[in-house]
Amino acid sequence: MAHAHNHTAQIAEAEKRCADAGESFTPLRRRVLELLLEQHGPAKAYDLLPLIDADKSAKPPTVYRALDFLVRMGLAHRIESLNAFMACEVGACERSTIFLICEKCGGAEEFDAGHALIDLADAAKKDGFSIRRTMIEASGLCAQCQQAA
Ligand SMILES: [Zn+2]
Ligand SMILES: [Zn+2]
Repeated sequence: MAHAHNHTAQIAEAEKRCADAGESFTPLRRRVLELLLEQHGPAKAYDLLPLIDADKSAKPPTVYRALDFLVRMGLAHRIESLNAFMACEVGACERSTIFLICEKCGGAEEFDAGHALIDLADAAKKDGFSIRRTMIEASGLCAQCQQAA
């Protein structure tokens, strides 16, 4: 896999991030993150289950808890509209994120929304609301699928 080296870096980053937060990066949590990194698109929890061969006793709630943990640590994102998860493309992010989700191939791309969301933050502030984090899911057609159409 061409991505192998990136994964090593992301796993190392995840390890560091957990240590800094005083959380333990258990073998299951690590395995789930590795599986997410290996996926080519958003993955559902039950798609990951059969892939977790290291621990045959892994039950759905255990995997959900591991996924929740990764999301809480900013190592993965939950895409609500697909009920699926993706490893964070930058390893660990607290930035404002937009997911561009392709309706045809099911791919999802993490898009740094920083500038696009400044206006939103300003507008919310005028309304007395302080936004800490924004997560937007946009659906449409990816560049490849537009060409195929
Ligand atoms: Zn991210
Ligand atoms: Zn597509």
